Amino acid sequence: MKTVYVDNNATTKVDPEVLEAMLPYFSEYYGNPSSMHSFGGQLGRKMEDARAEIAGLINAQPNEIIFTSCGTESDNTAILSALASRPDKKHIITTRVEHPAIKNICEHLSQKGYRVTFVPVDGRGRLDLDYLYDRLDDNTVVVSIMWANNETGVIFPVEEIAETLSEKNIIFHTDAVQAVGKIPIDVSRTQIDMLSLSGHKLHAPKGIGALYVRKGTRFSPFLIGGHQEGGRRGGTENLASIVGLGKACELAQKNINEEGIEVAKLRDRLEIELTTRIPRSIVNGDRENRLPGTTNISFEYIEGEAILLMMNEFGICASSGSACTSGSLEPSHVLRAMGVPYTAAHGSIRFSLCRYNTNDEIDYIIEKLPPIIERLREMSPFWKEAVGGN
Ligand code: PLP
Repeated sequence: MKTVYVDNNATTKVDPEVLEAMLPYFSEYYGNPSSMHSFGGQLGRKMEDARAEIAGLINAQPNEIIFTSCGTESDNTAILSALASRPDKKHIITTRVEHPAIKNICEHLSQKGYRVTFVPVDGRGRLDLDYLYDRLDDNTVVVSIMWANNETGVIFPVEEIAETLSEKNIIFHTDAVQAVGKIPIDVSRTQIDMLSLSGHKLHAPKGIGALYVRKGTRFSPFLIGGHQEGGRRGGTENLASIVGLGKACELAQKNINEEGIEVAKLRDRLEIELTTRIPRSIVNGDRENRLPGTTNISFEYIEGEAILLMMNEFGICASSGSACTSGSLEPSHVLRAMGVPYTAAHGSIRFSLCRYNTNDEIDYIIEKLPPIIERLREMSPFWKEAVGGN
């Protein structure tokens, strides 16, 4: 059976060129870049080349990039570093729709004596900027707002927010894990202090991430150990993956605009065809200002998990907007924050596309999904009630 992978916000395939660039660093060049001997020491240059590629993709300086193990580590480091830089201040602002890498550390910190404000979004997943600006006070130390939402793809105006905050001397971090490599980013034109990215969202492997820390931003390491990364992150560098991330960033930069247009065309066709063919299907999130490859569609009165299982039988891989927590199906916190009714939030599916998806794959989903929805609705008492017992 063929596999149609439209779950690229969860993770991506490693690009063959990325893999090829990485392979020698497992076998031939396995040294430690910190070694005194040239067998290891020479690898430091390779690492710096990769750092320059990553910096290039977001127009940062290479020494503003710190390698980490993943997006989650970058996010946690940014928040904790900001708090350490101003121990007298105890107020954090973030949003109600962050990824758990930010949401859960903020909730954890709220148990440890910090005050956390979660900024709401409207029905289209757009941030309430007035609410954000009204909540800033003398005790606010850090604001962390994602660049693009992983479930809906909605893009937040982080450059504008960073500009406003810079006048107030508040540290601004953005979780750009879903944005880097998909939309152009130029940090040199912004007042963003810290930015997180993750390799496996842009065709590099899992287990490698980076944190951009703007020159002049006070920084406190999260992993305390050796002198790696200029003392900003202990731990022997994951050189093969660093080389892979460098290659992935080089590839992303070359094609970012063209790829965005092509991926958006596929996404739009999928979205239009599905919502036209399937009654009571609704696109969640702002369609104007979204990542090119993401669409989140609710199919009312059925369970997302059931849709995923039936799509799985046809080799179609996507995600649902509900997570099975402690035995009960809870709709995602993102859709709940948007006020999506339970009958729709439960039946939401996220399709996330990338440069490897094809028109044939879109045709395949358009052919397979409508009968799946119809079958599930035939079994749904809620659907029968909604359509008047037919
Ligand atoms: N932030 C966002 C917006 C994400 O989508 C993800 C992963 O899904 C992360 C952070 C965490 O990244 P990682 O899986 O590299 O820890």
